[in-house]
Amino acid sequence: MMIRGLYVHIPFCSYKCPYCDFTSLVRSPVGFEDYTAFLLREAELYRDLNIRLETLYLGGGTPTLLSPGQIGALIDELGSIFDLSGLKEVTVECNPETYRFGEFRELLRAGVNRLSLGVQSFSEEGLKRLGREHGVQESLEAYIHARDAGFENVSIDIIYGYPGQRVEDIEIELESIGELNPDHVSAYMLTPHENTPMGMKILGGELEIPEEETLGDIYDRLWKGLKGLGYERYEVSNWAKGGKECKHNLLYWTMEEFLGLGVSAWGFFGGRRYGNTKNVMSYVKALSEGKKPLQSEVLLNEEDLFEEELMLRLRLKWGLGEEDMELIPERLRGFFEIKGGRLGIREEYMLLSNEIITEVLLYNSDRNSTEVRNG
Ligand code: SF4
Repeated sequence: MMIRGLYVHIPFCSYKCPYCDFTSLVRSPVGFEDYTAFLLREAELYRDLNIRLETLYLGGGTPTLLSPGQIGALIDELGSIFDLSGLKEVTVECNPETYRFGEFRELLRAGVNRLSLGVQSFSEEGLKRLGREHGVQESLEAYIHARDAGFENVSIDIIYGYPGQRVEDIEIELESIGELNPDHVSAYMLTPHENTPMGMKILGGELEIPEEETLGDIYDRLWKGLKGLGYERYEVSNWAKGGKECKHNLLYWTMEEFLGLGVSAWGFFGGRRYGNTKNVMSYVKALSEGKKPLQSEVLLNEEDLFEEELMLRLRLKWGLGEEDMELIPERLRGFFEIKGGRLGIREEYMLLSNEIITEVLLYNSDRNSTEVRNG
């Protein structure tokens, strides 16, 4: 197989959001230039693989703390290690307070053709409740400047289900999305991670997230609103217009091979899934010694591969073929629909997707072990 996707993790942030459990450093012991030099050393270790990249994704952290010049130089250097001649999609995650027109122009010239803007909410109240440090005006400016600079593929990230969110608050998000008309929307439900300040408060009862019923209503309004605005959902948390699905993420969700570089990055190739260390000093140390900065590496057996692919494909709106209905237990079939020969969870049940997917996986692992037992 050929590796067509590369994820690069840039772990720097100018502040730490209270709900964030990504690997992001406000005070890094390693500077930007040194870090990108280590990224390239890591890339060198994979030079001999069959890599012809079609997608490149710079995520974080806040990749746009790097200047467009630094990002451009990184892409050029990666081009001297991997074959980038077939590159179709180059995404950079951008925090709204970081870049303006001039930087966006430079970024486009550096070969980046897709932006993922971390708006999170178009309501000041929402941003405050999420503990974000940027304001709505900064998001609007960043979006408009990016469009004026020439970006034709812009995605916006939204978070819902944060403490104190009411059903009617989702209208503010929908109204702004309707006005700005981004090509892609990712809407994630807030996850209270126990290793984050906000997660601890939620789990400890000090902060309250919306109750199940309210959350259901928020979600209902969200997907119906996005649908009304012409967005098509293609994954549990992702919507696109005009064929602008994220090509890079689609590689993950269809179990294609991809490479991950940088602190905490993941990769999958040759049936192996690996994860890099989350500690930037361990990352630097391993690479200084010419070693891969791995924290984990697992060889997936046939059953693992089947389960993982099934799980990922169930998250896609039309990830399975109609013949795969046999993988769905009878009692759950009402949650699914078939269209054009493809099978997926019905839109109105997507909020229950985690529960549905768990049950489908359990059913299939029981089925597989029975088949093995019966020879
Ligand atoms: S900007 Fe993003 S990566 Fe950085 S702390 Fe906030 S949520 Fe985490």
